[in-house]
Amino acid sequence: MPNSEVRQRVFDLKRQLNQYAHEYYVQDKPTVEDFVYDRLYTELVELEKQYPELIAADSPTQRVGGIIASGFEKVQHEIPLYSLNDAFSKEDLFAFDQRVTNALGRAVAYTCELKIDGLSISLRYEEGQFVRGATRGNGEEGENITENLKTVRSIPMTLTQPYSMEVRGECYMPKESFLKLNQEREEAGQDVFANPRNAAAGSVRQLDSKVTASRNLSSFLYTVADAGTLHVTNQKDALQELADLGFKVNHEYQLCQTMEEVWQYIERYHERRSELPYEIDGVVIKVNDFQYQEDLGFTVRAPRWAIAYKFPPEEVETTIEDIEWTIGRTGVVTPTAVMQPVKVAGTTVSRASLHNRDYIELKDIRLNDTVVIYKAGDIIPEVAYVVFDKRPKDSQPYLIPTHCPICHSELVHLEEEVALRCINPKCPAQIKEGLNHFVSRNAMNIDGLGPKVLEQLFDKGLVKDVADLYFLTESDFLTLNKVKEKSAQNFLTAIQKSKSNSAERLLFGLGIRHVGAKAAKILLEHFGDIPTLSQAGKEDIANLYSIGETIASSVTTYFSNHEVHELMDELRTAGVNLAYLGKTSAELSTVVSPFKDKTLVLTGKLTHFNREEAKAQIENLGGKVTGSVSKKTDIVVAGEDAGSKRTKAQSLGITIWTEDDLVAALTNENR
Ligand code: NAD
Repeated sequence: MPNSEVRQRVFDLKRQLNQYAHEYYVQDKPTVEDFVYDRLYTELVELEKQYPELIAADSPTQRVGGIIASGFEKVQHEIPLYSLNDAFSKEDLFAFDQRVTNALGRAVAYTCELKIDGLSISLRYEEGQFVRGATRGNGEEGENITENLKTVRSIPMTLTQPYSMEVRGECYMPKESFLKLNQEREEAGQDVFANPRNAAAGSVRQLDSKVTASRNLSSFLYTVADAGTLHVTNQKDALQELADLGFKVNHEYQLCQTMEEVWQYIERYHERRSELPYEIDGVVIKVNDFQYQEDLGFTVRAPRWAIAYKFPPEEVETTIEDIEWTIGRTGVVTPTAVMQPVKVAGTTVSRASLHNRDYIELKDIRLNDTVVIYKAGDIIPEVAYVVFDKRPKDSQPYLIPTHCPICHSELVHLEEEVALRCINPKCPAQIKEGLNHFVSRNAMNIDGLGPKVLEQLFDKGLVKDVADLYFLTESDFLTLNKVKEKSAQNFLTAIQKSKSNSAERLLFGLGIRHVGAKAAKILLEHFGDIPTLSQAGKEDIANLYSIGETIASSVTTYFSNHEVHELMDELRTAGVNLAYLGKTSAELSTVVSPFKDKTLVLTGKLTHFNREEAKAQIENLGGKVTGSVSKKTDIVVAGEDAGSKRTKAQSLGITIWTEDDLVAALTNENR
């Protein structure tokens, strides 16, 4: 008989877990890390195992976690989508193997797949045509997100065979897109997503599918609802058939004959995790043979023939030494924790963004606190929580600043924003940030003009806005600290060179809210030049693929300002190019080149051009340039001193070019 203490604990755990699940699944905004949730969940499972009479119908152990958000049409899943049981140790895995072996009366082979940290989706095809896409929801019923999933380019609209079937898998946000999205959101004063999984879930459940389209989501499909629709008898072959049908399948899977082999696979991917361009939180181990899967069946919540091994969280304790507040180019004031340096997931970490005021208050972070940190999406250091037991006795709540640390004007909290903002347009910090952004690599790419030089130019009154850069003379540069004739000449050459950039760089460099590098390119591919864009109506802009209302109103508001027109006149007078020089979308679609639809990785030092220039030329010819080598890579261009990426390309049998090969191919194509 459970005593009242146990009853109370079960009740509290259930309530707490249900609240976390609501924050995680409905609001896409978890307040605790997954491992915190997992620990409480495991505790509840253990108690329920010991006292089955305490299992309630609303216990999170009795159903698939998701909850359906309002605003979407509901979809009834004819065959439910299950969750997976977890394993946290080698022992858990061997116990699973034992259960399987006992139930089947024989040892079996397992397929190991990476556990993609995205959200479950179910895709319905009728005679080979995509007709409906849904979330997992509570497993029985999901949300209809067809229109949004149509914007995910890796999801095929037509299959290579006219099958009628339901395919299941994961929709996810690549790490690179997650980083960029959070950066943009922080700059825009919005809340950031805790991890790529929440970012993907938040993006796919947008009422406006243009927002989804702008989020650069991808997918990996790994199963069908009714295994009978495929012409195969096991999971490994099913993955191959899904790939043949046109789905994006994660090719890192492996068939393992024993649990020892499974464990080696886990260890290998635990190590390689941070190299992958997408986030994984573990490995899914599935009995390979469909007949054995059927024999084993399901519990109310999960299959008995599969288990998810979750990687242990890498959390480390450190102390908060200071909280610094910096002003971005849009006036958003961001706090950063300065911490005692510690090693986390392979690198030394001493700073972590605290994002905004609410974040500090919610976690009650104070100076000199001991905190636990980890890396979100395996890359960004985050403060998970404060270790209250170690808080100094004389600790005081942290006082949020009320005034801009640079211009001292009062900070404001705009409605619907989590950020504090300095709204003084003449705030020097904002203008300097704007200049840094303008010269940065993805914007005007003015080599060598770093923050220190820009700061001096601004402080001396030589540069008040971006156009002033184009009127600087050698003698202006020579007034700066430590600048000699040679570097002055280099600065002037770099500035001169930037005048002939294709105008999407200028448009991005202007720092118009919500207009990132990608949006700038889409806008100019369509409108041709900045003057035409500046005259365009809001509707015309909003109707472009992946643009939408927010960007459209930001662009029109920006160009309605007469000071902006003066700035454009100054830039034009200085000889800065305002036209788009790349191929238009229509031209790109007709390009036939060795780069068309090919994915390239540039590595090592390039001598003929810098990476940005090489990338632009490849993209103009219909190719794509990514940062990491995978089986999807078609060509790796290895410049001088190329290291691990070339080695990896060799091991995967990927074509390797020298820089000269690249130059020759580009010259041929551009002729
Ligand atoms: P899960 O994420 O632990 O595992 C099941 C899911 O894995 C499947 O539904 C599928 O979507 C996914 N998956 C990824 N790759 C797969 C592959 N190759 N094959 C099969 N499935 C694959 O389970 P869940 O029910 O989606 O979520 C529960 C988890 O969510 C918890 O363990 C916890 O980590 C997290 N959670 C966190 C909070 C929080 O507050 N932080 C709250 C609720 C849940």
